[in-house]
Amino acid sequence: MTDIRHIAAAACDYTNFDAVIVGSGPSGSIVARTLAEKGRRVAVLEYGGLVSPGAMHEPHQAAYSKALTSNGPADGNPWTACCVGGGMQFYNAITFRYRQSDLSASQYLGTDMEVDWPINLRDLEPCYSQIEHLLEIGGTNGHSSYPASPRGVMLSEAMQELGMGPKNILLAIRAPGNPGGCVKCSACDELVCPTDARASVLARNILDDSGLPGTISVFYGCFVNRVEIRSNGRAEALECYVPLSSELIRIPVERVVVCANAIQSAALMLRSKSGHAPQGIGNESDLVGRGLSFKISGYSVGHVDPADCGSDALASHWGPHATVYTDEFYEHNDVPCRFGGLIYEANFHSPSKNVGRVRLHYIAGDEPWSHNRIVLDDAADREGIPYIRFEYRNSENDRERIGFLADRADEILRHLGAYRIEREPSSHAKGSSHLHGTMRAGCDPRSSVVDSCGRVHGFTNIHVMDGSVMNFAGNSNPTHTIMANARRMALSLE
Ligand SMILES: Cc1cc2nc3c(=O)[nH]c(=O)nc-3n(C[C@H](O)[C@H](O)[C@H](O)COP(=O)(O)OP(=O)(O)OC[C@H]3O[C@@H](n4cnc5c(N)ncnc54)[C@H](O)[C@@H]3O)c2cc1C
Repeated sequence: MTDIRHIAAAACDYTNFDAVIVGSGPSGSIVARTLAEKGRRVAVLEYGGLVSPGAMHEPHQAAYSKALTSNGPADGNPWTACCVGGGMQFYNAITFRYRQSDLSASQYLGTDMEVDWPINLRDLEPCYSQIEHLLEIGGTNGHSSYPASPRGVMLSEAMQELGMGPKNILLAIRAPGNPGGCVKCSACDELVCPTDARASVLARNILDDSGLPGTISVFYGCFVNRVEIRSNGRAEALECYVPLSSELIRIPVERVVVCANAIQSAALMLRSKSGHAPQGIGNESDLVGRGLSFKISGYSVGHVDPADCGSDALASHWGPHATVYTDEFYEHNDVPCRFGGLIYEANFHSPSKNVGRVRLHYIAGDEPWSHNRIVLDDAADREGIPYIRFEYRNSENDRERIGFLADRADEILRHLGAYRIEREPSSHAKGSSHLHGTMRAGCDPRSSVVDSCGRVHGFTNIHVMDGSVMNFAGNSNPTHTIMANARRMALSLE
């Protein structure tokens, strides 16, 4: 069984590992598992701690450093969540495969960066299938689909009547009534599932080396500050800061795989300046941190008189955050750029807040521009680590695309008889839990940072395998693709 312990409790000389992975979120965990399947001894270094069943999301961002945003204050979020298991501990289990258009979006979008991925959908397909098997995704491999909620059924009917082709979302949640199935203990959003019905890297056997030829050891409470490089360009060690003891420790590496999220991974590379990499690792072409993509998204909330609809559909909500969606506008001639995204049910995370209200979420991938980026500030946080600064603004195309989806969502709510519709303001410049694009993948070091398998150009033993390497963010929720792509890249390692 995987050894998971605070780094202060690790009696270990750290020289026994074939690979060290930075970050224990879904990308780092699937890379660890894939390497352990190949018989490798893997260490995973994680800054955050263990979270308890039922824990809420907010403290696992708030306790850690914020990012500075373009207009000055430290009010940006540079984490999905900082904890063992990463953002997936709190996620909504919405599971989509990307489409070929997500990987070749240049047919729709034109920016000053390479938008197309260096791989095709068929390269991801076997890994999608393996992840679906490991996570027990409903509707795949004989696992029961999670049924639509009463609100979802009402929304599906409205979408159908408006010609917007409703569908049930595939969820990484065991359906009620099945062994270990969901007991609908809450409105499932931004909390750690207390029963493990919802998948995470800990609740399924992703971060578990039982029965594998290799081993996985997770050391948490340890912030990886820099990658140290020898003069021959090989990574030699990681300099790590342990807040508990205020100590800097040095962990030797044979191979390092960075899976810290698209903000933190780029920041680590930028902090790792040396004589061999004076601008930071992989940054000869000034590309590290550029192309930052947060997704564009928003919410519309319709206030509906319960007398107008079936009462179950407008009562308190217990169960998944979202069960139905429409992808009618994913690629559609009426959408600006002909490239839209998804609209889906998005219940409030407090069951009673849903009474008399219907909430919809809309998301799409944002255009990656080189001026959208993270940089390191001169100022440092309380741990002495340079602040990350976001420089991010949406393009005109993106504003029009998300505006179109918002109008369609409002149409659905009006069709349901909403007497008032409110749009919840989005503050994309302050971050997102969908992080992509800062370490772009391709063949040419002048336009990309890593190759198609995540190896940093010019380095033999430094790899990046998280959302950083996604050249276009994709028009749907990313975790399934982040994991499938991470597994594909990890399988390519010797
Ligand atoms: C509330 C919420 C709901 C979501 N719902 C969905 C959903 O329904 N569907 C979906 O597809 N996606 C969803 N997401 C997004 C999903 O969580 C992310 O896509 C996913 O977690 C990304 O995985 P990752 O491994 O690349 O990064 P992360 O999960 O962010 O993991 C990175 C890990 O690295 C650690 N780390 C970072 N820097 C360092 C460092 N220097 N040293 C040591 N450790 C470090 C972090 O603490 C973190 O644990 C949701 C996110 C949130 C927060």
